[in-house]
Amino acid sequence: MYRIRTLYRAYGNDPGNSGLLRPRGRPPNQLHFFWRSAQVADDAAILGGIARALNILPAQVVNDAEHSLYTLHRGERVCTAYELFRAHLPSSEISIDYAFVLVSALIRGDEVQLGYCVACDSLILVDRLKPPQQTCASCSYPPQNSSVHSPSAPLCERPV
Ligand SMILES: [Zn+2]
Repeated sequence: MYRIRTLYRAYGNDPGNSGLLRPRGRPPNQLHFFWRSAQVADDAAILGGIARALNILPAQVVNDAEHSLYTLHRGERVCTAYELFRAHLPSSEISIDYAFVLVSALIRGDEVQLGYCVACDSLILVDRLKPPQQTCASCSYPPQNSSVHSPSAPLCERPV
């Protein structure tokens, strides 16, 4: 718990405020967050890749992911993955709470999984509720002007 508080202080919405406004209520459990923009989806794929590299994700789907995830050892490893993730992407919108949501969902494997873009073979977060053969944001939204690329284009407008 101490480590999560430390991470929250370090990466919370307002790290300069010592009297942090602590979120109340239940932690987030919606995967919609990861599809709100191409940037967040890309960040989620990176975090998932780190979790996979650290062997946090099991080789096979686990049906009781909640129980499997919420062991102290796995929780510590998720914190380690999140610290690495934030070291590389300090401005990401993904909070430690959503990191746990993502890892839990990846362990379950019923709604999301890690996969590869069919066009460029980059690591992506695959929405299992959509048809296979998914592409990354860069391939879904080729830049209109060659000098401008908008990775934060909303995914809800992605052609199916
Ligand atoms: Zn691609």
